Amino acid sequence: MAMYGYAGKILRLDLTNREVLVLNTEKYRGWGGGHGLGSALFWEFCRDKTIIDGRNPANVCVVATSPLCGTSVPSATGRCEVVAVGVGYDGISWFTRSGIGGRFSTMLKYAGWDAVVIEGRSEKPVWVDIRNDKVVIRDAAGLWGKDAWTAQQEIWSIIGSSAGTHNAWQDLADLKGADKQERKDEGRSTQKPAVMVIGPAGENQCHGALIHDAGNGAGQGGFGSVWGSKNLKAISVIGTGSIKVADPKALIQARQALKQKYITSYEKPDFRQWSRIGGLARPITQAPIPTDERRPQSCQGCVNGCRSRSNLGYGNESACQETSWYNEFIQKVAKNAKEFGELSLRVADLCQKYGINSFVLQTGLPWLEHLHEEGVLGPGKKIHSTLPWEKLGTLEFAEKLIHALSTKTDIGRDLAEGWVPAARKWGREKDLHTGAMQFSYWGCPEHGYDPRAELEWGYGSIMGDRDTNLHCFNFMFTTVSAAFAYSLPIRIEAEDLVRIQARKMAPYAKDRPEVFDFSDANMYSEAVAQLVRWQQHYCRFWKNSALYCDLKWPDLFNTNAPNREGATGSSDAGEQVFWNAVTGDAMTLEDGIALGRRIWNLDNAIWVLQGRHRDRVHFAPYVYETKYEKNELFPFYMWPCRDEKGKWAYTDLMGRSLDKKKFDEWKTLFYRLEGWNTKTGWPTRKTLEQLNLVFAAEALKAAGRLGEEEKA
Ligand code: SF4
Repeated sequence: MAMYGYAGKILRLDLTNREVLVLNTEKYRGWGGGHGLGSALFWEFCRDKTIIDGRNPANVCVVATSPLCGTSVPSATGRCEVVAVGVGYDGISWFTRSGIGGRFSTMLKYAGWDAVVIEGRSEKPVWVDIRNDKVVIRDAAGLWGKDAWTAQQEIWSIIGSSAGTHNAWQDLADLKGADKQERKDEGRSTQKPAVMVIGPAGENQCHGALIHDAGNGAGQGGFGSVWGSKNLKAISVIGTGSIKVADPKALIQARQALKQKYITSYEKPDFRQWSRIGGLARPITQAPIPTDERRPQSCQGCVNGCRSRSNLGYGNESACQETSWYNEFIQKVAKNAKEFGELSLRVADLCQKYGINSFVLQTGLPWLEHLHEEGVLGPGKKIHSTLPWEKLGTLEFAEKLIHALSTKTDIGRDLAEGWVPAARKWGREKDLHTGAMQFSYWGCPEHGYDPRAELEWGYGSIMGDRDTNLHCFNFMFTTVSAAFAYSLPIRIEAEDLVRIQARKMAPYAKDRPEVFDFSDANMYSEAVAQLVRWQQHYCRFWKNSALYCDLKWPDLFNTNAPNREGATGSSDAGEQVFWNAVTGDAMTLEDGIALGRRIWNLDNAIWVLQGRHRDRVHFAPYVYETKYEKNELFPFYMWPCRDEKGKWAYTDLMGRSLDKKKFDEWKTLFYRLEGWNTKTGWPTRKTLEQLNLVFAAEALKAAGRLGEEEKA
């Protein structure tokens, strides 16, 4: 098989024995890259797939790129996937994933590596120094205890001739004399190494994220804690190679087609377009910073800079959640908009430096405040804490809270083992019933897209491994609700929107707009099961493996395109066009979805070995026992639905709960469609054989966890 797009080698790090091994990527080519590659490598090298805590030394963490990384494919080039058994769930930490942007994946490719497999546990702290094909596991005693930014700066100093500044030549080739003259700039670079690193939270194995540069992070899943348990502080990489593309002309043509046809141009700016890929570069920091005080910044190769740099000099590269989790508290104390914006960004920087998964704070901090207000949390209270609650909303409080969580001090001691286990320990399980604590799936915090309203998000999360964090369709809620809230134009009627989207959604949802109908009458339907399947399978390949950015793909509906059909699957700028131009394959959009289904099934086989059974697959009790009544963004949750006469309209989905029995019946529909046994949720041999996963069927059989075949 041709290897265009691939660097060709995979790096295996055995931290226990401090050994560096090399694998040939070709053997894994059929998995595509990213998540698929990572799951296959995890399967091969994790000898005990029953582990349920990512801190177990048997855990294997894979950092994987895709063939598109290091090329110029829009909103895919700079993404990177990480997989491993996670840390910090409730009971079982599933095999899970996280994505991270920036320039780490591109640099890894330029150094000649498609992925890094991290195994075992080092006795002492180490960091890994990759300079092209030279790889050294180094002592990290001097870096341990440093925050994520300081550690990166020190590594740049160690490697660079001039403290890691740009424009300073760094010689990786170690050439001498005449040979050096002949080869001129080969093996030399002015770039800084790309470093993925953990901060104190990861070192202390609590809420740890992986951080890269100023503000790129892989937070959900707890992989910083996985690295901390392995005594791995950082991986630094600098490379001077390049990636061979099968058809460079086709790649450039597709990029131009995307920019000309689907993306808003600066000549005709349309700030209110409705599209995934199509917006003007626009930082999505939630900090209230005036637009002329900030500018967009991108992961490498992206056409849609969603990151930001601001004149204030804070919050660089941070976007979205880490710039917003504290805002509801800041706004109560900030004297003016400038102070509000500055505080939001400074708090984001704290999260990056401590290397903490700020996601737990999004719903976690309101719960802690609730406990404090109830009088059970505070100095000398049942839950003893010396945090200065009177200063909630200030930088000082945020720093003290983040410090406690990252260093297992104060309430951080109990929360380190997961927030839901801590709630149990504190005798606060009732908060999962009342909704005071919104940790809705597997002990993970809810994203803000409530499972009682946005079904593909909630159902996809509970059928998977954590908050699904897949924004394929979620823009319908945000865009439509924003239009209603601010009296903006509705760019398309509900029925037209869902029909246009469904046109491209082969194989499960093609021309079936009813898959989007989340009305009470349709919320437990086969149609909704097909939507969840489409999203999970599409994403397992196109987003998590090919590494198209979740924020920008798929592009099913686009107000920039003449017929309003987005770029997804199109013959000029579809996902498969870029993939084929880079790799030389002849893949279709559906082929990718089929491969995504295979990868999703391999993941599910791992979850089943870890202990997954349908009886475990349930939301936190509040999702069934209370009505959804408050959303942080808007006073309603608008979504396209049909009424009893079949007429489509944007409809508010607030005010309902899930019916536990009906949701359980919906799982049966889902399992049947997936070819999994409906009593256990375990895959059958027939299904696994169809997906060319016989090895997984054998492993499940040996473990007594292969699903029985059922009559159709
Ligand atoms: S949209 Fe944002 S997160 Fe995605 S690749 Fe572009 S800059 Fe990175």
